[in-house]
Amino acid sequence: MPACRIERLVPAIAVSEGAGVTVHRTIGTPALRNLDPFLMLDHFNSDDPDAYIAGFPSHPHRGFVTVTYMLNGHMLHQDSMGNRGDLRAGGAQWMKAASGIIHSEMPQQSDGLMRGFQLWINLPAREKMSDPDYQEISPEGIPMHTSAGIEVRIIAGEYQGIRGPVNDPNTQALYFDIALTKGRTFSTAVNPNMRGFVYVFEGAAALDTQTLPQHQLAIVDGGDSLTMTAPDQDARCILVMGLPLGEPIVQYGPFVMNTRAEIEIAMHDFQIGKLVQKKAQFAEK
Ligand code: MN
Repeated sequence: MPACRIERLVPAIAVSEGAGVTVHRTIGTPALRNLDPFLMLDHFNSDDPDAYIAGFPSHPHRGFVTVTYMLNGHMLHQDSMGNRGDLRAGGAQWMKAASGIIHSEMPQQSDGLMRGFQLWINLPAREKMSDPDYQEISPEGIPMHTSAGIEVRIIAGEYQGIRGPVNDPNTQALYFDIALTKGRTFSTAVNPNMRGFVYVFEGAAALDTQTLPQHQLAIVDGGDSLTMTAPDQDARCILVMGLPLGEPIVQYGPFVMNTRAEIEIAMHDFQIGKLVQKKAQFAEK
């Protein structure tokens, strides 16, 4: 089995979300509607004190999971399940919207910076109307593997025998934050049935002799290993892979179901105030 290669590069586009907040989106754009099992990738990145102040006030989700990973700054969160959280830099939030949640996400800067990612992972049909759930992971809860010039923070999946705290059983998704010192090489085994991407957010890396520029999504196709280098400068990226669900995807904004009829039900439920059907059991951390 060959090593993973880059299928193509998708540049980020600026999208206005929430109360006029600009995010850099790659998955979930006209150039890449989705990348089964992933539905959306937003990169928020600002040193402008006013850029994120309006945040993402109260809004709904149904049919999928969101994973938010903060690099700098923090995010105040509140939802219809009764959860309140303050997602800190280096921490993550896993939220299974499933049958429906309404929440607000209000980013805050620290030391003039606010950076992070939000990834949407699809749920299979059998789980779309299941109960919502939520987990906030502190920065200390994300393990890091360090070896000469390579730092790997493991948010989900397993690397060098270390397992990350986020578990998505349907897609077995892996989610690594990889920092490479110039001249170093990162390698990992990969399930060849998975697909996913690399997104470089500092410096520039290379995979299979192809340069991965900053702020572009590099779609990775099947192989049983993945090797990345930082030939010219230090680089930092996220590597995310998962098993495709192979089901029809019908999306209308924050609702992602399998059929148009299910989307109409979601919109109707939201209009009549019945989107939120179940409160989750909130696990105190
Ligand atoms: Mn949201």
